[in-house]
Amino acid sequence: MRGLDAIHADLAGLYRDLHAHPELSFAEHRTAAEAARRAREYGYEVTTGVGRTGVVAVLHNGPGPTVLLRADIDALPVTERTGLAHASTVEGVMHACGHDMHTTCLLGTLKLLADARALWSGTVLGVFQPAEEIGRGARAMLDDGLYERFGTPDVVLGQHVGPFPAGMIGAHPGPAFAGADSLRVVLYGKGAHGSRPEASVDPVVMAASTVLRLQTIVSREIPGSETAVVTVGALNAGTKDNIIPDEAELKLNIRTYKPDVRDKVLAAVERIVRGEAAVAGAVREPDIETVDTFPVLVNDEGAVARTMAAVGAVIGADKVLDPGAVTGSEDVGLFGTDAQVPLCYWLFGGADPAAYGAAFAAGTLDKDIPSNHSPFFAPVVDPTLTTGVTALTAAALGWLDAR
Ligand SMILES: [Zn+2]
Ligand SMILES: [Zn+2]
Repeated sequence: MRGLDAIHADLAGLYRDLHAHPELSFAEHRTAAEAARRAREYGYEVTTGVGRTGVVAVLHNGPGPTVLLRADIDALPVTERTGLAHASTVEGVMHACGHDMHTTCLLGTLKLLADARALWSGTVLGVFQPAEEIGRGARAMLDDGLYERFGTPDVVLGQHVGPFPAGMIGAHPGPAFAGADSLRVVLYGKGAHGSRPEASVDPVVMAASTVLRLQTIVSREIPGSETAVVTVGALNAGTKDNIIPDEAELKLNIRTYKPDVRDKVLAAVERIVRGEAAVAGAVREPDIETVDTFPVLVNDEGAVARTMAAVGAVIGADKVLDPGAVTGSEDVGLFGTDAQVPLCYWLFGGADPAAYGAAFAAGTLDKDIPSNHSPFFAPVVDPTLTTGVTALTAAALGWLDAR
């Protein structure tokens, strides 16, 4: 991509700096300030504090389409174990999902587009979104008037780094990332001495029975042609062998791709939780609370075709694949669905191609290639950075008018 060589060293330095200074969701103050400072320097009108810690950078460059380019900027509560020289300097916080790479690539693209403004016409909206990891940042920016204040875009483009060979791009039309719902359930029993079960309503048994019954939702209630995942990731009750506790807590994570399947699973969860509590003789109704919710990410078919044609023309059509739908989740979908704007969100590889090839040949991908959220997740700076900047810039130019 023209102009990239000249800024590459600066971007690689920025990436390492962001990686060393990760910030949790809605606490991305340093990252947001750096994104704002750079975008202003590149010639963008910058607004900070959109959706708490979000940043919007606008470049009006004549008549034409408005293209929204989105990067998420937050990190995770993970203790880094990569041993890299640019590893996290913040105890217990790590860019384990690569959002530092997304932020760097977006800044690189904003710089290249500003420098090439004689070649295109339209408006670029650079959106640095906070709090993706807790599923609240996109909603916060939209609720803070993102589209009312800065204009509704004609397309939303964005990208996520993943554990496949750097240099490759993956995009799937239609439902591409699962919807996710995280629930917290509290079951109420009646505590007693462990020697006197007759004086108790045992929430441990109630919880055990509930977990087993929840695992019949996917196998017995969802058609074989549909996809759903129900995971009980936490089951907490009690303190000691001879005390029957008062209550038990379950934490559930549910993944689905279609609204009707999601409604069916959520209704079944509620029915089973309440039903098992009633059968056990619970002293009061269980609490069922939604902790996080990510809608399904639906990629517009036309937008994927147009965007990937533009990307493939620059990086090579053989570098662009369709990886199918993934069970991960992303709140970028809201920028599309909220205002019926077509969305194209793709994956780009972050694994060292040689290491990936060797692990693939040895059948040890799961062991040797760390995935997102692992304390060992660390994209190789190149060709990940070059590919990410090139793909995002080519995608934007594929939607902006040529001059
Ligand atoms: Zn993540
Ligand atoms: Zn992520």
